Amino acid sequence: MKEGLWTAVFNARGISGAGVIYLANGQALGGDSLYYYKGSYEFDEATGRLQANLKATAFVAGAIPVFGIPASSFNLNINGVVSGDTATATGIVSEIPTVRMQINLVKRADKIGLWPRGRLEGRPAGVSDIYWCYAKRGPTVYSGKGEEYREAYRCQLCGQRLVDDPNRHDFVLHIEGPGVG
Ligand SMILES: [Zn+2]
Repeated sequence: MKEGLWTAVFNARGISGAGVIYLANGQALGGDSLYYYKGSYEFDEATGRLQANLKATAFVAGAIPVFGIPASSFNLNINGVVSGDTATATGIVSEIPTVRMQINLVKRADKIGLWPRGRLEGRPAGVSDIYWCYAKRGPTVYSGKGEEYREAYRCQLCGQRLVDDPNRHDFVLHIEGPGVG
């Protein structure tokens, strides 16, 4: 899983900088001590290639990026390769294509609100109430098989029994119709 919080150490023309970037759902948000970043990214699972386009906008007057030319904003095209929780990339400043940045990235945390794809599509037949599991920060159902009603029902994400429930679960949605599990 490449989605989550990454730290970035970059340099251009021998000058170093550092920032953080959050990648989720194809969108990239981040910043350093002078600029915030907004943009998009694509990750190719088969090849490990990462491509991102970021707009860096200064939030400090007189900001000078690592490439040494004062800029209130600039666009960066990033191409790199991800290997596990690290990535190396090259960034090209669109406005000054001769400027190349070397970027080293390390993943530090998973995406917020991890959505367990497949859970909802695969909900067991008869399950119709969706809850939000605060322990795992995702939508969930309670399920139990052949056991006494509710006593053995467990959250499919955190495993907590409905009757114990020290983890917070809020009711979200009731779905009518047959299950598709
Ligand atoms: Zn739970």
